[in-house]
Amino acid sequence: MDRRRFALGAATLGLGAMAASTPLLAATKTRPGAGTKPVAKAAARQAGEPDVLILGAGISGLQASHMLEEQGLKVAIIEGRDRVGGRIMTLLDQPGYPEMGFNSMGEGYGRGLDVATRAGVTMQEVGSRYRIGPPPLLYIGNQAFTRDEWAKFPGNPFPDALKTAMPGELAAMLVAQKTRLKDWNAWADPVSAPLDISLHDFLKQQGLSDKAIHLAYDIAPYYGRNAYDVSALMSEYNDGFVKAQIAAGPKSFAVKGGNLLMAQALAKQLKGDVLLGREVVAITQGGDAGSRVTVHCKDGSVFSAPKVICTLPFSTLRNVAIEPGLNGLQAEAVAQLGYQPISMVFLTADTPFWEQDKLAPGMWTDGVLGNVIPQRYGEDPQQITGFIVQARGNLADYWDLLGAENAKALIVARIEALRPATKGKLRAHSYFSWSQERFNVGDFSYLAPGQVKWMADIAKPAGNLFFAGEHTATGARGLEGALESSERVVLEVIS
Ligand SMILES: Cc1cc2nc3c(=O)[nH]c(=O)nc-3n(C[C@H](O)[C@H](O)[C@H](O)COP(=O)(O)OP(=O)(O)OC[C@H]3O[C@@H](n4cnc5c(N)ncnc54)[C@H](O)[C@@H]3O)c2cc1C
Repeated sequence: MDRRRFALGAATLGLGAMAASTPLLAATKTRPGAGTKPVAKAAARQAGEPDVLILGAGISGLQASHMLEEQGLKVAIIEGRDRVGGRIMTLLDQPGYPEMGFNSMGEGYGRGLDVATRAGVTMQEVGSRYRIGPPPLLYIGNQAFTRDEWAKFPGNPFPDALKTAMPGELAAMLVAQKTRLKDWNAWADPVSAPLDISLHDFLKQQGLSDKAIHLAYDIAPYYGRNAYDVSALMSEYNDGFVKAQIAAGPKSFAVKGGNLLMAQALAKQLKGDVLLGREVVAITQGGDAGSRVTVHCKDGSVFSAPKVICTLPFSTLRNVAIEPGLNGLQAEAVAQLGYQPISMVFLTADTPFWEQDKLAPGMWTDGVLGNVIPQRYGEDPQQITGFIVQARGNLADYWDLLGAENAKALIVARIEALRPATKGKLRAHSYFSWSQERFNVGDFSYLAPGQVKWMADIAKPAGNLFFAGEHTATGARGLEGALESSERVVLEVIS
């Protein structure tokens, strides 16, 4: 059985049986990796305390809470923000409910679709909406190109056989075609470690020049700040997951009215408390396996429980004092794991300028404008409800340095310069930077070359402190990965 099927099987078959036959929290067996330690009694819950305290009300914390409550445990969540959802974040007051975080789930998101059904939200198919209209126009400097024009352009730095590829698609295309992994589920196995080189080296091996790599990756990196900064092996894992989703079917689903509604509905269904506005600053526990875990918040409040699940991204966990400290690869990962810089502006247009200038509404640029992505989230799928302009990597940092208002003005001015038909017709509404979000400090986690070895220890329980969250998943990505981590951690906690 592969890891993925094991996780699913355990979740659907084993969990209920295990819970029914295990006196929950009466005794902790030796945990994985602590084989020689004696079996110790877990601390008993004290009056008013939860059995399990969960840090973070993102999807992984909400799902872990639900699964534990299903097993009859008392749970409470501590969340730093004044809202639930974490990286699920919708602008509920803007036309079409633009998503600043989680966008959509594929047909293969078994866990995600199950959670959405339980939340009682209405899902709408959005995959076909992504495919409406012409592909985005490519802008190199001030010059616009269709795919055919780009293929013939003398300044196109791609090898002859790849000249028809647009810059934004070439790196992913090569990873998909040339992946070295026979079984992408084995990406984190030590046997794959020799493949853990930089994406830059991988792309070089496919015949790309430095100039071609810069254009194809560094301008708008999917992960990291440039192709040196990201592991090719991790990119191949991502590719395996994407292929599995494609094989499952072409549909994608999002919540009608905004994905944030799903997180809000899940939080409402919980019996236990969801305490908002509590920033965790320290986690302490005694030295032996039977000791309770205490969580200290910035506002002076203190909570304790026999077991704690931490779903905080490592970008914020690294600012939390953990006593006793973590060790080895896990400590390295907490200190250094990278998180993707992404900044976005939501724009609306007073008139359909694309009908006037007869050009594609979407734009992929190699300059400070980034990527202009039309949003079609109205009742009529053809209707463009607005545009998300997105910067990744170094460009996101640059926008953040300019500040929200200057960045918005720059973006509008750049579009107006490239497309005179937009003059005076664009309204820049919200600016959203994941790097500047205090409780995320970046979007997805990503691994640099040589860091895939961290996955062996990244989620290792530390006494009665357990770890979950997107960054700990090894079989799925994104929201589905966050949910995978909830299943794993719940199995660890109840066994
Ligand atoms: C722009 C963007 C687009 C995305 N698109 C997709 C997509 O299309 N498909 C897909 O599958 N996935 C997508 N994702 C990824 C998906 O949203 C995440 O993988 C998932 O939501 C992560 O859930 P999580 O619970 O692991 O982490 P989070 O949602 O980050 O939850 C962690 C929680 O911990 C809280 N926290 C942090 N520090 C502290 C502290 N010190 N004290 C107390 N609380 C704290 C945070 O506020 C947060 O609520 C996208 C993400 C982004 C940002």
